[in-house]
Amino acid sequence: AGGQDGEVGKAQRAAAEVGTEPTIFSRIIARSVPATILYEDDECLVFRDVAPQAPVHFLVIPKRPIPRLSLVGPQDAQLLGHLMVVAARTAQAEGLSDGYRLVINDGKHGAQSVYHLHLHVLGGRQMSWPPG
Ligand code: 5GP
Repeated sequence: AGGQDGEVGKAQRAAAEVGTEPTIFSRIIARSVPATILYEDDECLVFRDVAPQAPVHFLVIPKRPIPRLSLVGPQDAQLLGHLMVVAARTAQAEGLSDGYRLVINDGKHGAQSVYHLHLHVLGGRQMSWPPG
């Protein structure tokens, strides 16, 4: 969905509130908000997206609340690599043998709506290109 009242509008409003309060993802990590969790270790959590955009749609997040990709530095390289390895392993466990898509939305133009860094993994159908 696009437009001011769709995902993009939500993302633009969220951009105005970055860092003012813990995000919903911190509450999922703390188990105060329920989620369908697929994998967890000391550094990351994987759970299904509540509004799936494909037959399989899950999120890989660091437990450390980095707000967005554009704020990472060289010190985060190992963690970011770990998130991608976990994304690939979980995609395999979800049976996505025909492939899948990894997405990171950053900031207003990226239509980011939750300011806790996350990798989207989408699969189970043919993707198109370019993305909207
Ligand atoms: P973004 O637009 O920031 O890249 O993506 C945020 C994603 O988080 C969206 O796909 C949205 O559906 C998902 N999401 C938002 N709130 C919740 C929630 O409470 N639980 C789960 N599982 N996913 C959520």
